[in-house]
Amino acid sequence: SDHSLDYPSSPGVIHWASHYPAFHDTGKIPEFADIGCGFGGLLIALAPLFPDVLMLGMEIRVQVSQYVEDRIAALRVTASESSAGIDAIPHDYQNVSVVRANAMKFLPNYFSKHSLSSLFFLFPDPHFKSRKHKARIISPTLLAEYAFVLRPGGIVYTITDVKDLHEWMKVHLTAFPLFEPVDEETLRKEGKGPIIDAVYTSTEEGKKVQRNGGDKWLACFRRVQVSRNS
Ligand code: SAM
Repeated sequence: SDHSLDYPSSPGVIHWASHYPAFHDTGKIPEFADIGCGFGGLLIALAPLFPDVLMLGMEIRVQVSQYVEDRIAALRVTASESSAGIDAIPHDYQNVSVVRANAMKFLPNYFSKHSLSSLFFLFPDPHFKSRKHKARIISPTLLAEYAFVLRPGGIVYTITDVKDLHEWMKVHLTAFPLFEPVDEETLRKEGKGPIIDAVYTSTEEGKKVQRNGGDKWLACFRRVQVSRNS
């Protein structure tokens, strides 16, 4: 199923300048990754809040990742056409981009060791049946990869409206030695309130849950440093 998916052999070969032209001479690489970004609501919400941070969405569905690509391109054009000073401060959305990719297979092909400060799993597909649990995006085998790309001190944000999936993600992330649970209040005190607000409300799935009056369960984890080489 991945035969049509082009993926880089390593993060070093990715031409980030084509994703973030305005940052081409900064040497910057993505620091926030939204895994299974869907229609891109989180990226669009966070972009103006962290204008110097490069953000990348990963989405496996062709039409959906294309939609996000078009959405970002349109926002960039609008920004370049609007005259400064008349409306509210326009953001240029130069710091967001998207790739079509299977994050469960190719995450380390996109992100180098300890390059990310935030990793988002917002309303991931629940895969309800037990025999499909291995298809879940938070799974024991994948946690090692998430710990690899996340820098010590970096945060994994998860949110879902499926209680069983929430418990599953919590159990596995808590059991993994390189992650420790961190509560919402602590993160807000550290100034991450705007990120948490966006996690709750900015995505298309999050808005749908809201419209339907569903619950949302948040669980966040800090990537810990255990030894010099971890
Ligand atoms: N995070 C978005 C939101 O909150 O609106 C989308 C949530 S949607 C329920 C889950 C998304 O994950 C879908 O768009 C799906 O295509 C994508 N997805 C599922 N498995 C994936 C994978 N292995 N790699 C990348 N994206 C994936």
